[in-house]
Amino acid sequence: MSNTANAKLQIEKVKESRVSSIDFSDLAFGKTFTDHMFYCDYKNGAWQEPKIVPYQPMTIDPSARVFHYGQAVFEGMKAYKDDNGKVFLFRPDQNFKRINKSAARLAIPEFPENYFFEGLKTLVNMDKAWIQPGVGNSLYLRPFVIAIDSAIAAAPSESYRFMIICAPAKAYYKGTVRVLIAEKFSRSASGGVGFAKAAGNYAAQFYPTKLAQDRGYQQVIWTDADTHTYLEEAGTMNVFFRINDTLITAPISDRILDGVTRKSLIQLAADNDIPCEVRPIKVSEIVEASKDGSLKEIFGAGTAAVISPISAFEFQEQVYELPEVNEHSYSSRLKSKMLNIQHNLAEDKNGWRMEI
Ligand SMILES: *Cc1c(COP(=O)(O)O)cnc(C)c1O
Repeated sequence: MSNTANAKLQIEKVKESRVSSIDFSDLAFGKTFTDHMFYCDYKNGAWQEPKIVPYQPMTIDPSARVFHYGQAVFEGMKAYKDDNGKVFLFRPDQNFKRINKSAARLAIPEFPENYFFEGLKTLVNMDKAWIQPGVGNSLYLRPFVIAIDSAIAAAPSESYRFMIICAPAKAYYKGTVRVLIAEKFSRSASGGVGFAKAAGNYAAQFYPTKLAQDRGYQQVIWTDADTHTYLEEAGTMNVFFRINDTLITAPISDRILDGVTRKSLIQLAADNDIPCEVRPIKVSEIVEASKDGSLKEIFGAGTAAVISPISAFEFQEQVYELPEVNEHSYSSRLKSKMLNIQHNLAEDKNGWRMEI
């Protein structure tokens, strides 16, 4: 079923681009934004005219429901530039479907498909001077929707703003990640909003993550909320385990986010004859595998870092170290395969790239 609307995209360009004033060698992630932004308001039961305007602060009433009830969803995706200056998105159809799935769970109206793609492509094209070529460099794209009704009654809003903002992102090496396996706190619960990219999911993670950081861990591996015996996600990433030569990742559910990176890695594993099982995985299984030496790797998977290798985990006050990552590790091999596809350096046999 197609979900389209028919207002014309309105465009107001900046008088002068800021791009020449940016030091791309020294970019903190998510603090610098491009010249333009896209937005489209929902009111009177319909999405209004979509617009691209100069990036700027906006005025929202203090009573807007997003501030009180967190009625907000978002996406994270990237645009890449190859050495010939061609610009690509990676599986943007997946992000479009997911933002509407998230929106539905938060009682937010679905956004029209043609507005999403026209807005996204036009915006990225207008600001493509902000994308640096080179593997690891990208333009991070942040579509999001917020409830903007001026009314603090605890009910779904009648007006919303859909926006896309863009931040240049650099390849950066974060070092190794040590993680704490959650035994008390939970990221999501059955029947909840864990599968949605709901803003509040992130706020709820900050405190337990900070406690873990105070103890020398960078992230928390989330377990199932009821029993804390099954492994679900690593921080804000999906998570993979390698036991002997087999990769294992948990099946998606209403507690686990359906990551584009996760599903792409499962496909790449199949394409490269790497055995990969999608099944529930117990904490006790990786503890045993670590003790007998069969646990080879753990890594997080998400758009921001593609793959983030984990060097150690703590569970029940016991620390388990993992073997060092090298170029034969699945994490290194799969990460370079993904990056090469994203940057138009390898054949794209699954049709994941979309040229702008
Ligand atoms: C966004 C997100 C991911 C990763 O999804 P990608 O589409 O691969 O970026 C994984 N887990 C959670 C909780 C997320 O919010």
